[in-house]
Amino acid sequence: MENVQSPAPHESNASELQAHPQPPSSHHSSSLSARSLIRLIQCPRCSLPLHSPLRLPCGNTHCRECLPPTKTRTKITYPATEGRDKGFECYWSEPGLRLKEGGECPGEHCVGDCGVDVLMGKVVGVFDEGLGVANGEKGSLEGIYELVKDGKLDYTASEVAYLGTDDSEEPEGPVFENLKEALRGELDCHLCYSLILDPLTTPCGHTFCRQCVASVLYHSDLCPTCRRKLNMPSNVKSEPYNNKRIAYLIDNLFPDQVAARREAMDGEDTVSEEKDIPLFVCTLSFPTVPTFLHIYERRYRHMMRRVMASGERKFGMVTYNRGNRPQGNLGRAPFMQYGTLLTIDRFELLPDGRSLVIGRGDSRFRVTKSEIQDGYHVGRIERIDDVSLTEEENMEFTETSREVDASLADEDSKDLPLDYMSTQQLFEMGVNFVRNQRNLRAGWLHPRVLMAYGDVPSDPAIFPWWLANLLPVSEDEKYKLLSTTSVRERLKITAGWVRKLEGSRS
Ligand SMILES: [Zn+2]
Ligand SMILES: [Zn+2]
Ligand SMILES: [Zn+2]
Ligand SMILES: [Zn+2]
Repeated sequence: MENVQSPAPHESNASELQAHPQPPSSHHSSSLSARSLIRLIQCPRCSLPLHSPLRLPCGNTHCRECLPPTKTRTKITYPATEGRDKGFECYWSEPGLRLKEGGECPGEHCVGDCGVDVLMGKVVGVFDEGLGVANGEKGSLEGIYELVKDGKLDYTASEVAYLGTDDSEEPEGPVFENLKEALRGELDCHLCYSLILDPLTTPCGHTFCRQCVASVLYHSDLCPTCRRKLNMPSNVKSEPYNNKRIAYLIDNLFPDQVAARREAMDGEDTVSEEKDIPLFVCTLSFPTVPTFLHIYERRYRHMMRRVMASGERKFGMVTYNRGNRPQGNLGRAPFMQYGTLLTIDRFELLPDGRSLVIGRGDSRFRVTKSEIQDGYHVGRIERIDDVSLTEEENMEFTETSREVDASLADEDSKDLPLDYMSTQQLFEMGVNFVRNQRNLRAGWLHPRVLMAYGDVPSDPAIFPWWLANLLPVSEDEKYKLLSTTSVRERLKITAGWVRKLEGSRS
């Protein structure tokens, strides 16, 4: 603990037109037809051009007004944000509503997970501008578009027999070329300034390359376009669906550019799951909270100079393996396998080479292997992420829907097992405890401590980190938080501390 500088007084969609219904995987699945191109901007429910396109978590889209009837979701208290208490059966989960574009959906969604699709809205506008104003002779694109606009072409209708076109006819000619060019102008990623690859749409409705979103989430939780909170798991892998229509559009209109980008990306330094990072074996640090360090050991002075020179200014903080316990792949390593990635917020070099560092806790990791370089440990790390909000909500619903044993059913019972409590109740237990402790002028809540670490967080996702940083409980107990993968799990741990501490006093 010798390198810790504590500022606190403690340690730190069948139609009549349909002549030959085709199975989803038709013979020309790889080329684009005028019909399938227009279908991309058609709502599966009302069959009109999309009006205020609503992005669904399954990567599909329909008009905002075409949202199926909603029902109230019960026994879910976290996250208690707008729209999360309403759910609906996704239109795209109906059997038969399948597309070459891949329209399937696993089932139910939460209204809070749906939102505006900004890019799809622009794409619909480009189609209308390119095809909607045509007078006189109409090509197949304009003809099909007009039918859609007039509500005369069902979404699933694949062949437009009387127009003399069918689903296999590839669009061509100046109208198509102009449309293509206009679309291309809307399809650049605002992060890498190239054609969007594997389009992922954020909850705020902005679309970027999947890889670009991953890079952003690595160091921030704000949308690069609108600066709204992303509310996405830091691991984009748990965000299973790309924006299906945008993906189909890009893959079919610009296949060569997509192929070139994929090839180029293979050689790029992508955000990989694993990274090598210098490890500072010293103390327990937690995400979102600062760690104050006083660096004087020669090897760590050297390490900090390198970390500062790297530009990323990140290193891993791990604590000592005091009990010499086995640490996964590492065996009996001198340090614990779970740690926190810190980003240096402030670095002050003292004239004698020592330094004062303020590190901000980012993500958590597990060290999978390590070696010593220049006197300090360098570890291969794997990021530890929380499950998706949907999984988080399912967990709470499942746990709190169980029958409570009659002997424990006493409503107000302070003995109700934590597993049966709502996530909100678990959070409130902690917040109330802090309030009481403050009234009692507990030393660990000294104004100087609050000045350094901030007041009690109102976000249940952050609260446990804050509490662990301040509350005088054993390091072993605090360490348990680092490997958790849900907010609920962490709040159960902190509620457990509260029970124990309150129990011991009464
Ligand atoms: Zn609609
Ligand atoms: Zn869906
Ligand atoms: Zn990009
Ligand atoms: Zn945004």
